Amino acid sequence: MRCSWGVVVEGLLTGSISRIVVIEIKSLSHTFNGSAQPVLQISGLTLGNECFVSVVGASGSGKSTLLRIMAGLIEPTAGQISLDGKSPHEKRDVGELGFIFQAPTLLPWRTAMQNIVLPCELQAGGSGSRQQDVNAMLSLVGLSAEDTRKRPSQLSGGMQMRVSLARALITRPGILLMDEPFAALDDILRIQLQEDVRRIHREQKITFVLVTHNIREAVAMSDRVLVLGDQPAQIMADVAVDLPAVRDNDVRRSSEFQDIVNEVTDALHQVV
Ligand code: ADP
Ligand code: MG
Repeated sequence: MRCSWGVVVEGLLTGSISRIVVIEIKSLSHTFNGSAQPVLQISGLTLGNECFVSVVGASGSGKSTLLRIMAGLIEPTAGQISLDGKSPHEKRDVGELGFIFQAPTLLPWRTAMQNIVLPCELQAGGSGSRQQDVNAMLSLVGLSAEDTRKRPSQLSGGMQMRVSLARALITRPGILLMDEPFAALDDILRIQLQEDVRRIHREQKITFVLVTHNIREAVAMSDRVLVLGDQPAQIMADVAVDLPAVRDNDVRRSSEFQDIVNEVTDALHQVV
């Protein structure tokens, strides 16, 4: 199943409208300073259409580099990347692109709420956040009003990640990039957050790109899994995840789920 073109729909957040974001990559290559070889070489790739895409690959294969290029945090040394025809940093500067790192990266001296609304304060020409939007956001990510009065050090790792998610979503981006966001969480919390993020994806019609080294996580969350080979990173397999939209326990235990996990695992074995 490939994600089809969606229509513009009213999102759950008050007044939010989902925007279809399409990432296009052409002849992309990146070589770090001082290195003789490119770390990444991708001839062509189109992502988006409100799709949930995961990128899996061995450690050091270039997953984070690819995601950082998509986020406009690294300028590629050759080739083109565009998001709806714009450069990634143009999209980021106007709050249309969100990024979540492995660590929640919250400001320790601010309360959870002050961290969540920070992007609205920083956004050029931003008009701040409306209380009703903030309240809808809190319920979307599963935070109570009491949680938001606490500082990050008073919150568990899972709650900190929820705050990080709310902060990334508060500007209502059309695309959210996540770099191994659940790697530090225990299994129960990780599965809970995976299900919640998948629900947010369905309800808000946002394009998600998730980098993970966890194959089951990639299959549980995505509509499409890209397998990266390394030296240089390139797309070795593009696996469609043709499973029901809700990935509950029954789906995760099904033979169809296991078949896709096996397909991705085989593709990874061929490249390492
Ligand atoms: P992954 O996220 O798949 O583990 P990365 O994208 O972080 O891989 O790194 C890919 C390769 O690029 C690794 O060999 C890493 O050492 C190298 N690399 C990453 N960042 C830099 C940098 N800023 N300067 C030089 N080399 C880097
Ligand atoms: Mg990485």
